[in-house]
Amino acid sequence: MEQANSIGSETLLDCIVIGGGPGGLQACIHLGRYNFRVVLFHTPGGRTGYAKHIENYLGIPVVSGPALLETGLGQVKSFGVAIENAKVDHVTPRGGHFEVLAGGRTWRSRFVIAASGAKETLAPFKNIARFFGHSYYTCMICDGYRTTGKKLLVIDRTVNGVRLSVGMKQMYTRDVTFLAHGFTLAPVYRALLEEEGIGLVEGRPEELLGESALEGVRMSDGHVIPCEVILGWGGISLNDEYLEGLDLDRDAEGFKIVTRGNGESSIPGLFVLGSLRVGHSQAIISAGQGAEAAIEISTRIVEIY
Ligand SMILES: Cc1cc2nc3c(=O)[nH]c(=O)nc-3n(C[C@H](O)[C@H](O)[C@H](O)COP(=O)(O)OP(=O)(O)OC[C@H]3O[C@@H](n4cnc5c(N)ncnc54)[C@H](O)[C@@H]3O)c2cc1C
Repeated sequence: MEQANSIGSETLLDCIVIGGGPGGLQACIHLGRYNFRVVLFHTPGGRTGYAKHIENYLGIPVVSGPALLETGLGQVKSFGVAIENAKVDHVTPRGGHFEVLAGGRTWRSRFVIAASGAKETLAPFKNIARFFGHSYYTCMICDGYRTTGKKLLVIDRTVNGVRLSVGMKQMYTRDVTFLAHGFTLAPVYRALLEEEGIGLVEGRPEELLGESALEGVRMSDGHVIPCEVILGWGGISLNDEYLEGLDLDRDAEGFKIVTRGNGESSIPGLFVLGSLRVGHSQAIISAGQGAEAAIEISTRIVEIY
């Protein structure tokens, strides 16, 4: 493996990969196996680290996010990719290549893959860190299955929670209650919930109860709603500070980055994948996008196709 600190500042790399989640690691595996000059910049953290039991990744019956990443990092190292444990501070397109500022140095590369993911914003309930990813879930695609047959509380600050509650009942469990957090539900939605046999509570949750297992939610008025699992609200903010000032196409909300099918952004040579980019966010999707970006880059570097 080439040491990143042995690469001189005059070296023009083939690709810099930013972020060692499933997307960045998979890109590195492909790029490393092309024998390209690649540096992976990586800081610990990331959404995959929260995933306690990934069960929807082909070929692996169940794996925790951290274990998946550890195995992936080993694969990346085995293919000669240099790894720099540093945060990328800025990316600047410059005369047909990129300058990447990281760890107090400027690196130069023909291509950049931005795979730095997103940060979770957790709801401000007491004890949420204890249960997040275990029995307080924010992603139905990731963890809906784990609510199967359990006493479920859906918490949402908007009427979207009604639709979610109905869907959860159809797919996973008959025992669903919807907690309308901080708003009063319109009569039409109350009627719908009643028709579907879904309980309704309105008010403000304050504390999640239980030690190793979730037992319920204490509301601000003191009353307790028992439950075994929660599908609650949470948000994400993108780890994209280092892209500030770049003329990147974003979605209608100006949030996620829009790419072409192969993952290239509106800036030629800058590929974007995973949670940063418009589309569904799953470990296996990020990994697939990482492979795709790497293959696309290889076709630009070597004319063999
Ligand atoms: C609780 C929970 C459970 C989940 N369960 C599942 C599941 O069961 N199945 C599934 O498929 N998906 C699951 N997910 C979703 C999955 O984690 C994401 O889809 C996945 O993390 C996206 O991968 P990524 O490579 O885009 O980003 P990430 O995994 O977030 O990795 C990005 C990496 O980049 C690093 N980074 C950030 N900024 C910089 C910078 N400036 N310089 C260098 N490095 C940087 C971060 O520290 C991080 O290590 C779950 C998510 C959560 C929160």
